[in-house]
Amino acid sequence: MIIDCHGHYTTEPADLKRFRQEQTKAAQNKTAPPLRASLKMSDDEIRDSLECAQLKLQRERGTDLTIFSPRASGMGHHIGDESVSLEWSQICNDLIHRVCALYPQNFIGVCQLPQSPGVPPKNSAAELTRCVTELGFVGCNLNPDPSGGYFNAPPMTDKSWFPLYEKMIELDVPCMIHVSGCCNPAMHTTGSYYLNADTMVFMQVILSDLFKNFPKLKFIIPHGGGAVPFHWGRFRGLAQDMKLPDLRAHLLKNIFFDTCVYHLPGQELLARVIPVDNILFASEMIGAVRGIDPETGHHFDDTKRYIEQLSLSTEDKAKIYEGNARQVYGRLSAQLDKQFAAA
Ligand SMILES: [Zn+2]
Repeated sequence: MIIDCHGHYTTEPADLKRFRQEQTKAAQNKTAPPLRASLKMSDDEIRDSLECAQLKLQRERGTDLTIFSPRASGMGHHIGDESVSLEWSQICNDLIHRVCALYPQNFIGVCQLPQSPGVPPKNSAAELTRCVTELGFVGCNLNPDPSGGYFNAPPMTDKSWFPLYEKMIELDVPCMIHVSGCCNPAMHTTGSYYLNADTMVFMQVILSDLFKNFPKLKFIIPHGGGAVPFHWGRFRGLAQDMKLPDLRAHLLKNIFFDTCVYHLPGQELLARVIPVDNILFASEMIGAVRGIDPETGHHFDDTKRYIEQLSLSTEDKAKIYEGNARQVYGRLSAQLDKQFAAA
């Protein structure tokens, strides 16, 4: 089985966008928000939005299952207050649940959380619990910067995050570190902001005892780990200078990297620097980079092609494609059994 652990619903029915625009405008103008009941998204619209997009690419590329979450750049935690974020998160998560119910063999859910600037992360525990226990989701996207580009939240090693981590551990779900759309003009959302946040969180955890205190906590750092694998020597050297433990022992029981690196040399580097047990297959299609690489004639985000070309054993590739995901997402295998039985 080939499990793509990083996919977002980026082709949602049009009415979702209408609702969000109205909700955003109402939050800005402090006027009445649109009614949730006004949202009209039929099953047929959902099917159409996937059949010619994510499902088509799954079939063409030969991947089986996508761990699927709401559009990351659309989470918009900085928009409105906590109640706006909660309503929007519930709507987006419920939509992912409908996708998984329509295509139980192709998608499994991961939720966005109702984070909001200045609001304690523990306030997201209820929506996480709802998504896991009622909707069958297996993970969450956790935003280290709900401000949308100003990085003024406490580091993810701050104790304000701990109650949410305790809930994640209790539910046996990992988080993917994932910021949302950027409103700081100095950064491009997918070109720099995402990668900056990925790299930032890795350094935060180096400087902490987070995983000593939470040995069962699991973070997936997407986009190939930001700049981390390329600068592995810098991070190891910094840790050594600060008399911190070797990074493998310090972090690699808890930190995992996905393969959303859109060229072969980058993928080779990732697989050479990071142990195979810490790499999860992912493409983030249909996402940031949608074009065809003229140098290869294939889509940049067709990451399976790069994995195929790595000089790794079949067993190691099976870990990247499937085995590691089943380990990291503790509820994945049981949920898959449930969804396959429902199909
Ligand atoms: Zn993403």
